[in-house]
Amino acid sequence: PSKKVEQWKYTTCNYCSTGCSIEIGLDADKKVVTTRGHAGADVNRGKLCIKGILEHELFDSPGRGSEPLIRDKHYEAFEKTSWDNALDVTAQKIKSIQAQYGKDSFAIVSSGQLMTEEFYTLGKLARGCIGTNNYDGNTTLCMASAVSGYKRSFGSDGPPGCYDDFEHTHCFMAFGSNLPEQHPIIYWRLKEALEKRKFPLIVVDPRVTMLAQFADIHLPITPGTDCVLINAMMFVIINEGLQDQSYIDAHTQGFDEVKALVQDYDPKSAQHICGIDEDTIRNVARIYAKAPAAMSIWTMGINQSTHGSDGVANINNLNLITGNIGKPGGTSLSITGQCNAMGTREWSSCSGLPGYRYLENADDRQEIADFWGIDPEFFPKKRGLAETDIFPAIETGEIKGMWIVATNPMTSMPNTARIRKALEKLDFLVIQDVYEDVETNQYSHVYFPASVWAEKEGCHTNTERRVNLISNVLPPYANSKPDFWIFNQVAKRFDNGKVIDFPDTPEGAFNEMKQLSKGKDRTLDISGMTYEKLVKAKGIQWPYREKSREENCEQDNEAPESLKGDPRLYTDGKFQTKSGKANLLPIKFFNNNEQPCQDFPFWLNSGRVVEHFHTRTRTGKIGNCNKFSPTAYMEMNPDAANELGITHQSYVRLTSRRGDAVVMVQLTQRVPRNMVFIPFHFFDCVNRLTLGLLDPHSRQPAFKQCAVQIETV
Ligand code: SF4
Repeated sequence: PSKKVEQWKYTTCNYCSTGCSIEIGLDADKKVVTTRGHAGADVNRGKLCIKGILEHELFDSPGRGSEPLIRDKHYEAFEKTSWDNALDVTAQKIKSIQAQYGKDSFAIVSSGQLMTEEFYTLGKLARGCIGTNNYDGNTTLCMASAVSGYKRSFGSDGPPGCYDDFEHTHCFMAFGSNLPEQHPIIYWRLKEALEKRKFPLIVVDPRVTMLAQFADIHLPITPGTDCVLINAMMFVIINEGLQDQSYIDAHTQGFDEVKALVQDYDPKSAQHICGIDEDTIRNVARIYAKAPAAMSIWTMGINQSTHGSDGVANINNLNLITGNIGKPGGTSLSITGQCNAMGTREWSSCSGLPGYRYLENADDRQEIADFWGIDPEFFPKKRGLAETDIFPAIETGEIKGMWIVATNPMTSMPNTARIRKALEKLDFLVIQDVYEDVETNQYSHVYFPASVWAEKEGCHTNTERRVNLISNVLPPYANSKPDFWIFNQVAKRFDNGKVIDFPDTPEGAFNEMKQLSKGKDRTLDISGMTYEKLVKAKGIQWPYREKSREENCEQDNEAPESLKGDPRLYTDGKFQTKSGKANLLPIKFFNNNEQPCQDFPFWLNSGRVVEHFHTRTRTGKIGNCNKFSPTAYMEMNPDAANELGITHQSYVRLTSRRGDAVVMVQLTQRVPRNMVFIPFHFFDCVNRLTLGLLDPHSRQPAFKQCAVQIETV
């Protein structure tokens, strides 16, 4: 095709949570030929990372599903079928499994990849029509600990800060977050801020990541001991009187308990647990507390731990006692993983009901039941199983059928051999995915081919609560359908689906969400947004409240200021708890992880590379992403390799108590002598080894803390 672009169409990137605005170039024949960053967007200002630059190649990537498929047994060959038959069989199987084994015997697992309107509609279907309580998303693998920690500290989920805080901060501390590879454009924003104005960059990570290489101070912490480091920092801050006592007195509760607890974490003793020497702990604590505004960010290094929720709550503690919440440059900002992990947190109903409402709250159940026009008794009264508990429930026979939407647990879950066996045991499995060759489809009975990214329309919410629009640039491939359409069609096949109104368009669903978001005490208020405004503003942060008629008239011209939501939460020091005060929570460290030992002497750490997204279902199909990052590899310290006679680019077998994996060695000083690192994107590799002990609050697995042995092959 000609490379000449005749038309640019606006949309938003569908990979990570940075939320970059994209334009897709079409030639005279309406063929997609290229992608570029939108220069007018606040988030990315014209920039894209390699994944965004190549994203248009997704439209005609290999392995796309073109027709619905069906079979009786998972080991038989698939047959093509009509959408009507695939949908009828699915609805009938769900009903028969539920009739025989109970409503909760059918589970649904979705992801952070769908549009928000699709989450809302799937939530309506799962909670209001199918009625299973075992409905969750793969966000349990990435952001559940952040959600839990925010709720425990502030009374509600919702990252309180924004990227603009980089421009105002005087100290930036990153916990377990490798921005240049995970969120390259957020890193670019940070770098831009650092070029304008110098402030200390402190990176806490056991590995010398790319971000750690740019740090002023790198703290190579012992895995899983972040709470010890933070408690020791608070020991210094409180005992040297560096805390913001007026903020603590006015806006928090529980300070005395935290003050008492941290007395057990003198840096002199803490250094032996967290591996950071006492002078460095004292130095970092003083820098952080004395900065006029200091901010912390974190990603999976904190969340994917048995102490994930505690880690988040303790980062919040640090920021609350130093008065660093709700002010420019002072914040606790979880850098979300997937493009729409926030959308699923806000609207999917995975952990409750839409719009930060909860099954445990009778008023919330009544409000949603009234809005949907069903009996509130249809809802369970507490949350069901998380994704990480659903697979064990298949093993015990509690769950007999499952519907997996846009996620690939055979690569992403810990201990994947166990996941394979669980999927094989199901009486009925539906896979809904863009790609027919996704690994989980080996075990399915029905396959729904879904449309990809900008073949459909809807919104994402990014890390800084910015809602942005994915416009549909091309029609769906072959006979694939938008996930929104599929959910609506399944709903029509259930009794409540004939009672509840399911809008025909994503914008109709968005309008319902707007109505449900209204309320003066609601932070998650999107009532003032429209699709048109989202495109005009290149994304709007919530809360963005509906204006009065007079205000709207005054702002008819939509001056840019009127298209801005609130950049920060809790600026008035009022939190979403009953008292309005934030909770300071004493976080005691307990060591419950697998540790290296004589038989398994190495820590195994996992993470990402810049070229790939998650389990490579999409980036694995993009030529240049694969050329730059073709295979899995293991980073190993040269001294440790030397002791075992292992050479660069040789192959080794790693063994844990769960399984084994063969991988190529890359010798590098990025990892300490007692640790190896493998990117998690590749099938049948690192997650054959991981243990995945669960955080008790969030049910998120500890992907980054297990022990392995290594031998040459
Ligand atoms: Fe897409 Fe994230 Fe890259 Fe931006 S940084 S282009 S949102 S993958």
